[in-house]
Amino acid sequence: MKFRSLCSGSGGNAALLCAGADGLLIDFAPGCQRDCRAALREVKTISGVAAVLVTHAHGDHINRNSLKVLKEEGLTVRCHPEVCRQINERHGAEYAGIIQPFEGRLAIGNFTVAQAPVEHSPRCYTTAFIVTAGKYKAAIFTDFSRFTDEHVALAADSDLLVLEANHDLELLRTYGHPGSEFHMSNIQTARFLHGICGRSSVQPKAVVLGHLSEDCNRPHLPVKEIEAYFGLNNFPVKFKTQVAPRSAPGCLLTIK
Ligand SMILES: [Zn+2]
Repeated sequence: MKFRSLCSGSGGNAALLCAGADGLLIDFAPGCQRDCRAALREVKTISGVAAVLVTHAHGDHINRNSLKVLKEEGLTVRCHPEVCRQINERHGAEYAGIIQPFEGRLAIGNFTVAQAPVEHSPRCYTTAFIVTAGKYKAAIFTDFSRFTDEHVALAADSDLLVLEANHDLELLRTYGHPGSEFHMSNIQTARFLHGICGRSSVQPKAVVLGHLSEDCNRPHLPVKEIEAYFGLNNFPVKFKTQVAPRSAPGCLLTIK
């Protein structure tokens, strides 16, 4: 299984998860149409695209520009029915033809996808994705404000965890940021990750932290928070952590 973040943050989100020659895009909003086309060209050097999974209808995850380019390319968006309804409402019903809603499980290409609702902003239905491909499992949680025991159980035993670490509480107190209450703080992410690792019989091989706030976070802070929290709980950190860059692709991760 391979993973590459293409961009991550309030300016735009997109990531690629692949297994063999098959790929899934997870959210797709790299910017203007030119940026969207460039991102797809880059993706095609790594794998095909079986579908685009969309977590929610906020414009930094899917929007009119990206829908137009996905339609040109003949790609299909897969998401929860309520996310589908909100995409049509916010970004135009002319793209409804490329959006195929699903509930429960979805088998597509080499992947099986399950979705779990998460709490985010009140009027935006949001899901996390749990993706398996052969013996590999990835859990992707972006844009959420709290985690539950059910989320911990769903993410347990993942080889790859992609988690939002939006803000540092001290920087938030200094600079403030409207809407941060809809996102995970670094310490919440550390607790979530610790919960998942505690529940797993095999530790994750890689953790990718994303959706960092530009004003209220710095790349080293969530990593430090996780190390400190695991240290406090005498729990060894055995995984590699990558922080997804805001507006550039991250390193291509290979999970073996
Ligand atoms: Zn959002």
